[in-house]
Amino acid sequence: MKNPDVLIAGAGPAGCASALGLAEQGATVLLMDPGPARQPSLSGEWIHPAGVAVLQRLGVEFDGASCAHHQGFIVHPPDGELPITLEHPGSSALSMPHLTLTAALLKMTAAHRGITQLSGHRLLSATEHGLAQTTDGHYRSALVVGADGRSSAVRRALRPAETPPVKLSRTAGIVLPLATLPTEGYGHVILGAPGPILLFRLTPDRIRITFDIPVPGPPQPALIRHLLEEYLPHLPGALRPAARIALTSRMVQWASNTYRPRDFHGRRRCALVGDAVGHNHPLAAHGLSLALLDAEQLAQAPHLGAYRRRSRSTSWAPAHVSAVLGRLFLTPDALSTGLRRSLFAEWHGSPLRTQQAMRQLALLDTRRWPLAATFARTAGRTLTDSGESDLPALPRRARELLAWGGWLGRTHPPYTEGAPRDHVS
Ligand SMILES: Cc1cc2nc3c(=O)[nH]c(=O)nc-3n(C[C@H](O)[C@H](O)[C@H](O)COP(=O)(O)OP(=O)(O)OC[C@H]3O[C@@H](n4cnc5c(N)ncnc54)[C@H](O)[C@@H]3O)c2cc1C
Repeated sequence: MKNPDVLIAGAGPAGCASALGLAEQGATVLLMDPGPARQPSLSGEWIHPAGVAVLQRLGVEFDGASCAHHQGFIVHPPDGELPITLEHPGSSALSMPHLTLTAALLKMTAAHRGITQLSGHRLLSATEHGLAQTTDGHYRSALVVGADGRSSAVRRALRPAETPPVKLSRTAGIVLPLATLPTEGYGHVILGAPGPILLFRLTPDRIRITFDIPVPGPPQPALIRHLLEEYLPHLPGALRPAARIALTSRMVQWASNTYRPRDFHGRRRCALVGDAVGHNHPLAAHGLSLALLDAEQLAQAPHLGAYRRRSRSTSWAPAHVSAVLGRLFLTPDALSTGLRRSLFAEWHGSPLRTQQAMRQLALLDTRRWPLAATFARTAGRTLTDSGESDLPALPRRARELLAWGGWLGRTHPPYTEGAPRDHVS
């Protein structure tokens, strides 16, 4: 198929879901991917209910032995405060190894008559007129879709002078077989180490643990020792021996976390979906769900402008949720600590607030004003509390809150404002 209606670069979650959606609309689709060599070793595994719903609408099925269901998250604050349970209201999240997800999607694309898979080839460059240069020669299509992830070649071709993404942190991931979570059926976010630790059941017989190490962090050779000394003591006691073995046996997967605002959806005959549009810290686990929603919205949109508008309005709240969590969980300054305490106090005090928070985290409520209201309430409480303990600091704290609170009015949150940052080279 030399000139398909649609050429999709990238057969990850966004590319496969786009292929299925567009082929359902009657388009002939060529789905091109270079294969595992260009895929990150550690990638998304937790899918929020909004993403699960897209998979259901596509008809993707997983067998029970390959995935796990979750009712929500339990956040374990530092300093021995009581844990906070955030429940998914009336729906559940799903987790599975990233390869299980892409394999299930690829199986569906292979079975679709409108889709041709081309493995072992990659897109080198594309123009906004639908011309693509690939390792398999040149293609001309009505639409080129850049679903080629964080280092998208399609995006680079359309925006060659763009500044690189901002480096936020590194993630180390280990998998423990036959281990038990403190409470089954939930993801656990443990705070108190230099960065958050996430624990969740990946499959019925394995749990995933990720350790987030803020930049700059120690140099690569010292990282394992850093994890053993600074992170391991925060794990539940029963998991520590197995985690120590996994870390010292070097059974660790690494990923670098970067931030690029979701600000560019392509031009004319080139559309971007998933991480190619922009990406964020994996802490809020939004990437997969946003990738699946992008794919669905692109397939349903009458033109690129309509897709851009819908995707932007869906991504505003998640981007800001990720920014807030990143700031509160990764930055140890006094303002972040105050905001985090106030947010947890809000959650402790009201089941309604935890439900709202979970709907926002799970992409079930992507409206702006409820999120703005949450921030205003949290900021107000921080101010009141700091006034009680340190009255002279009140004006300064108010100015800091106002300055940082300015992000609410912005299109893209200043993720790293006030946090350590450097650029990916
Ligand atoms: C450590 C870590 C943990 C994460 N955890 C979660 C989580 O729990 N939940 C969540 O929702 N998100 C998570 N994410 C984010 C999530 O992995 C991504 O948002 C998601 O994979 C994006 O899907 P995608 O299809 O856009 O891109 P990718 O999954 O990156 O897929 C891109 C595809 O494009 C192919 N490709 C690359 N270059 C080319 C080219 N030139 N031509 C053709 N094909 C090309 C690649 O081979 C790959 O198959 C995590 C990310 C990281 C780094």
